[in-house]
Amino acid sequence: MKTIQTKTSIRKKLINVLLLTSLSALLSTSLGFALNDWLSLRNAMLDHVQIQATIIANNSIAAVVFNDAESAKETLNTLQSDADIVSAALYTNNKILFAYYERDASSYSIPDKLPNPDSGSLNGNQFVVDTIYHENELLAYIMLVADYSNLQKRQINHFLIALGVFTLALLFSLILSRSLQRIISRPILKLAETARTVSETQDYALRAKKISTDEIGALVDDFNNMLSQIQLRDLQLLKARNELEGKVNARTQELTELTRQLKYQAYHDTLTGLSNRITFDDHLRLAIDQARRNKQKLVVMFLDLDRFKIINDTLGHGIGDQLLIQVSKRLSACLRESDTLARLGGDEFAVLLPQIQQASHISGVAQKITKVIAETIIVDGYSLHVTSSIGISLFPDDGERAETIVKNADTAMYRSKDQGRNQFTFFSAKMNERAERRLLLETRLRKALKENRLRVHYQPRFDTHSLKLIGVEALARWSDPDEGAISPGEFIPLAEECGLIAKIDEWVLETACRDMLTNKNDATSQISLAVNLSPAQFIRKDLHEVVAAILDRTGFPASRLELEITESLFGPGSKDVCTSLEHLRNLGIELSIDDFGTAYSSLSRLKQLPLNTLKIDQSFVRDLGKTPEDDALVKTIITMAHNLNLKVVAEGVESELQYQFIKRHGCDTVQGFLFGKPVPYSLIKKIK
Ligand code: C2E
Ligand code: MG
Ligand code: MG
Repeated sequence: MKTIQTKTSIRKKLINVLLLTSLSALLSTSLGFALNDWLSLRNAMLDHVQIQATIIANNSIAAVVFNDAESAKETLNTLQSDADIVSAALYTNNKILFAYYERDASSYSIPDKLPNPDSGSLNGNQFVVDTIYHENELLAYIMLVADYSNLQKRQINHFLIALGVFTLALLFSLILSRSLQRIISRPILKLAETARTVSETQDYALRAKKISTDEIGALVDDFNNMLSQIQLRDLQLLKARNELEGKVNARTQELTELTRQLKYQAYHDTLTGLSNRITFDDHLRLAIDQARRNKQKLVVMFLDLDRFKIINDTLGHGIGDQLLIQVSKRLSACLRESDTLARLGGDEFAVLLPQIQQASHISGVAQKITKVIAETIIVDGYSLHVTSSIGISLFPDDGERAETIVKNADTAMYRSKDQGRNQFTFFSAKMNERAERRLLLETRLRKALKENRLRVHYQPRFDTHSLKLIGVEALARWSDPDEGAISPGEFIPLAEECGLIAKIDEWVLETACRDMLTNKNDATSQISLAVNLSPAQFIRKDLHEVVAAILDRTGFPASRLELEITESLFGPGSKDVCTSLEHLRNLGIELSIDDFGTAYSSLSRLKQLPLNTLKIDQSFVRDLGKTPEDDALVKTIITMAHNLNLKVVAEGVESELQYQFIKRHGCDTVQGFLFGKPVPYSLIKKIK
């Protein structure tokens, strides 16, 4: 429905309504009065004329009875004193004019015959006819004509007076309505003003003043109630908004903190708080740009902790982490503010020395690092010994690009490891060839394993005194189709590094067990089998289960199996290794320590281990008879081993001289080229 909106103010509307109301009241009253006035005047006049007609009729009876028209006329003439009557006439009973009177003969002429009705209008005047009876007989008629003009004049006078009164009343009602409308419009306008102020200021605490107790008063109450509700809602809204703002602020702060943390985590190593690889790469790129502009050199060092993995795996990650934190602190202490130290992951660290004045300074820093890392670190009551292998490469000498410098430092670091660890090595172009070779070998080794191209050769072991075959040592062999035989000395460390060693060891063990069972009926059917086990194998807690499963599968008796482990296993934190060895021993397997003498193993430590045999490293055997120190050492090892109830094997016996020496000093078993090289199992069977 369309609403019509007017611009007229409520004040004007009220005035108009009041005026219209009073105007219509006044008009209807005035009209009523005027009509009433007119009717009463007219009736009064008619009554008067009627009375006059009755008087004249009574006075004229004699004149009509005696047919005296003159006398009748005189009687009629008495009406001259009456201003209202303009003419009068007497008519005989047969309605013929008998006598008449006219105030103004020129203005009116009396009709000769009596008009029919008793009253009516005649030439604009009012006439009244009355009958005259004498002795109950109709004698005559009398007609009086009254003049209306007087009546009209009076009426006009009355009208003018009424008009004056009307105008005055209207004026009065105008004045009255102007002030009266305030009674209604004032509270409404006040209310409207309050509403406007509220909407302009948004101050819902404002209230409209209640001036009256009528409907507008009720409206003010309702309006104020509405304001109270809005105020309450506004307050609730404000509270909610404040709470929301609070929450949003808290959330924003949380997010900012989280972003900061994420940013920090993105660019830092969470464990040590050092820079991470991303930051290191960034710093290196910037440093290279700067060094290029200033024609300066810069240095990148790659550092890897030696044998960290063993500590981590045997003592647990908690200890490993603490160790890394301490190492990072020691490293930081060796460097300047302007240098960047980053942890690239695991036990790998990188150092960026951006401004290098002298080459001697580089070696100085590397030496310092090697020294501080090698010092005993105490974590959780354990005295830990780690060393570091460092690779160093320089910009621009060893590469123009960041990637090249980093790669070359890594290569140099591997060189340090290859050369015996706990040292630093400067990169040289030749190393890349080595690194490439390693990569090539790794790919080929994986392929060889997949295609089952590894073989096992067996080196015989003899009783030193009777020279009877008592056992064999299984040794892995790999012949690459392109390159031919690749030495275990090359591929075993590689397999340890790239995580292939477990597969190789298991394969060798299983193959050897199967081979050994192919000779049930000959002289070799009771000899023992020695298999090498890489130290890396001791990471696994289920090693004994794996071995037991192989024995189960192949049916090879545990009592004929001997596992060779190296000395390096018995460094710090070898508690778990000891447990693993116990498990293996519980299977009925014998354990021997290989290459004895190459690493430092304390005798008391050896005493605690569940060992059966000790294999003197071939480097000692090789030099027998050449230096008295080595002779004394071998003698001591044999005596000491026997004191610890260990059998002794001498490996690498190549000459009669060496054989005689160890035989003289009571060594139990011999193994070496002098008696037999590692050969396929079919050839072992032929040994008598
Ligand atoms: P190892 O366990 O000490 O084995 C003895 C090594 O000395 C063998 O080298 C053997 O051929 C060599 N040898 C024996 N007698 C003589 C001798 O009279 N003169 C000289 N010069 N050498 C002799 P090979 O086969 O090259 O193995 C090298 C090393 O590779 C082994 O040393 C062992 O530590 C490791 N290895 C070999 N096969 C395996 C394997 O299946 N698993 C693991 N984990 N390591 C293996
Ligand atoms: Mg061995
Ligand atoms: Mg050995």
